Amino acid sequence: MGVTHTPLTSQSSEPHRWVIARGLGRSYGDAAQCSGGVVVDTSAYSSIGLIDPVTGLVEVGGGTSLAAIMRVSLASGWFIPVSPGTRHVTVGGAIAADVHGKNHHRDGSFCSFVASLTLVTPAGIFTISPDEDAELFWATAGGMGLTGVVVKATLRLIRVETSWMETDTERCDDLDAVMSAMEEADHNYRYSVAWVDCSSRGKHLGRSVLTRGDHAPIGALGLANATSFIDIPAESRVRVPFTLPLSAVGPHTVQAFNALWFRKSPKRKCGAIVPLTSFFYPLDGINEWNLLYGRRGFVQYQFVVGPQHADVVRAAVGMMGPAGIPSSLAVLKRFGPGDPGPLSFPIEGWTLALDFPAGLPGLPPLLDRLDELVVGVGGRIYLAKDARLRPELLRAMYPRIGELEAVRDRVDPDHVLQSDLSRRLGIGQKVPS
Ligand SMILES: Cc1cc2nc3c(=O)[nH]c(=O)nc-3n(C[C@H](O)[C@H](O)[C@H](O)COP(=O)(O)OP(=O)(O)OC[C@H]3O[C@@H](n4cnc5c(N)ncnc54)[C@H](O)[C@@H]3O)c2cc1C
Repeated sequence: MGVTHTPLTSQSSEPHRWVIARGLGRSYGDAAQCSGGVVVDTSAYSSIGLIDPVTGLVEVGGGTSLAAIMRVSLASGWFIPVSPGTRHVTVGGAIAADVHGKNHHRDGSFCSFVASLTLVTPAGIFTISPDEDAELFWATAGGMGLTGVVVKATLRLIRVETSWMETDTERCDDLDAVMSAMEEADHNYRYSVAWVDCSSRGKHLGRSVLTRGDHAPIGALGLANATSFIDIPAESRVRVPFTLPLSAVGPHTVQAFNALWFRKSPKRKCGAIVPLTSFFYPLDGINEWNLLYGRRGFVQYQFVVGPQHADVVRAAVGMMGPAGIPSSLAVLKRFGPGDPGPLSFPIEGWTLALDFPAGLPGLPPLLDRLDELVVGVGGRIYLAKDARLRPELLRAMYPRIGELEAVRDRVDPDHVLQSDLSRRLGIGQKVPS
């Protein structure tokens, strides 16, 4: 496709000596920004090779979006192995954040399905895999772009018979009920996710809607769908037309919306057939949905704690109501064991993702308290969604970060690869003790 790869070079006399890659900018914080430096637009590295009809292996460019891959792959019965909540992310961004989906408890994260990748670094160009320079491969998996620019990767896709999902949905009256349901039966489903109402209180604290499912086999589709086993998803035309001056999402609207959503959901419904896009990517249904939060925007916060620390999830959900800061969207999932990446976010346990309208008084101290709770039990927050963590907590959350820094010193001795996130958190720099 006519793109040449040259190693990233550093000359300290140049004004723009720092470099970081950017995909589709779907990380919520400053991971793909580089004040005073160069942000590499990876859209030129967009390509999709032929899918091996037996193994599902396909070579794709680092700047290719998951949306583009699935448009091609679904036609021949292959699908993305790990889908985050939006399909508008690039392969490079998915590798750099080692993204997880609703199937982590079964399948692990994105990089478990990366057979090999080509990385452009200041020290040269490397083709690496879990067997070839495994250290550099796993440092890149979740390494937030700090080991180089992924220009190419070979992914292992999964086989699907249809573009539909067969789902079971149930309402759970409180947080304990949903957590028990997930512990008892998540292993029966490939995908599982719970929407949690963080504005409910008392005995309904954390009431939830739990949705689980798998790819629908052809036999599960009724006659009505028999002619469209594979329906290639079209992009949504619905969009928020402009930035609202004030957020449409405040404590009262959140409470009203949550109550409505909970009641509207079926008490229990098994075997519903739904399109794959509404199951995996509900937010992609409204373009620029973020504008609903007004000029101040919103804050995302996601943490994970071990399976024995469900109490931290309970405390987190319990803190928000009394503080008058209910999360506008709260999603609970269970992770299986993490992969070997030293900066990869998932570890086995509970993960809770929370959205808050920015600028609410009391939000910064609430999130600081949450950080303390999480780090106190050996948990961590997700850097792809962070813009505010205190740097002194990073090394406690990611105790193996030194491994990433050592690899980076090998491929980037002059520390050309930097982002606003890496500088804010002191990644690659000694933190004064
Ligand atoms: C609605 C929504 C839902 C989401 N749901 C989930 C979810 O369920 N699970 C989850 O894990 N994440 C989720 N995310 C976060 C998102 O998947 C990650 O932030 C992902 O990294 C974004 O990819 P991107 O291409 O937009 O990368 P960017 O946001 O542009 O960059 C993210 C990081 O990747 C690096 N990077 C980008 N391209 C390359 C490259 N070619 N080579 C090397 N490094 C590169 C950047 O330097 C940066 O550090 C969600 C985000 C949104 C907006």
